Amino acid sequence: MSKTLLEINKLKKHFPIQNGLLKRKQYVKAVNDVTLSIDQGEVFGLVGESGCGKSTTGRLILNLLEPTDGQIIFDGKDISNLSKSELRLLKKDMQIIFQDPFASLDPRMKVYGIIAEPMVTHKLFKTKQELDKEVRRLINVVGLKDYHLDRYPHEFSGGQRQRISIARSLALDPKFIVADESVSALDVSIQSQILNLLKKLQEEYNLTILFISHDLSVIKYISDQVGVMYLGNVVERGRKEDIFKDPLHPYTKALLSAVPIPDPTLKRERIILEGDIPSPSNPPSGCPLHPRCPMKMDICAVELPELRETRTGHYVSCHLYAEK
Ligand code: SF4
Repeated sequence: MSKTLLEINKLKKHFPIQNGLLKRKQYVKAVNDVTLSIDQGEVFGLVGESGCGKSTTGRLILNLLEPTDGQIIFDGKDISNLSKSELRLLKKDMQIIFQDPFASLDPRMKVYGIIAEPMVTHKLFKTKQELDKEVRRLINVVGLKDYHLDRYPHEFSGGQRQRISIARSLALDPKFIVADESVSALDVSIQSQILNLLKKLQEEYNLTILFISHDLSVIKYISDQVGVMYLGNVVERGRKEDIFKDPLHPYTKALLSAVPIPDPTLKRERIILEGDIPSPSNPPSGCPLHPRCPMKMDICAVELPELRETRTGHYVSCHLYAEK
């Protein structure tokens, strides 16, 4: 049976903002209700439009931000109750690959130093030879050559820089990686190379990955499970096949209906949501989608729907699927 590596319950992150002259305290509800779980060795694709709270969720999991409320359980431990030494170990087990590898790689360091640094900090090896061997192994694992270790980040293409970021993220042999829009800045042909590399490494190392993207085709390619976020809330989640073949939530249906179908003989009805996404500093009452939802009912403006399991492993937060 598969083991749950990460469990998130009712996670919230509200950022305080000052409201003009009245100095009334307001909050940007970047993450408002996120509940999900990820099994070991699984790729969980978190998808949603820009500003929906996906990246903040990733940073909360990595302990880079403190949650306002909710629980994050990693490898059986609640990460808000860890001692300093346990937190240090947690940092080793969790890594991130950013969208922009150029910004995340120190331009003054050669690639050798970039990859070696986390292993030196965590004192993984006793001798220089052992460290050397591992740095060379890692650069080869991501499809680059030994001679690349002697170069600086600016001497590489975007795809190569992302390979270097991946090598660095693997240096501490992590259990869990957050890939935050990791292929979004790359050309489509390079995107597929990096996705293939991530998929290969995920299988080889039995890695667990939270793959954050706004791009449904990328999410469909790489994920085992998918979570759909809207305005700080996970509104639907389940196995990739279920989400893409039989979406339940009106927001997921609208997102999928906007994806072009490669076969011109097939037709799909386009579902248009009214208006724009409301501001996370002033989210609507009840269901966050209700001002825009073509299926809304009276209850939708009043009550936030629970995230319910409607079929095995397929969860949806919508009053259309409330228990009768
Ligand atoms: Fe639409 Fe109501 Fe379902 Fe929200 S709860 S998605 S408003 S039908």
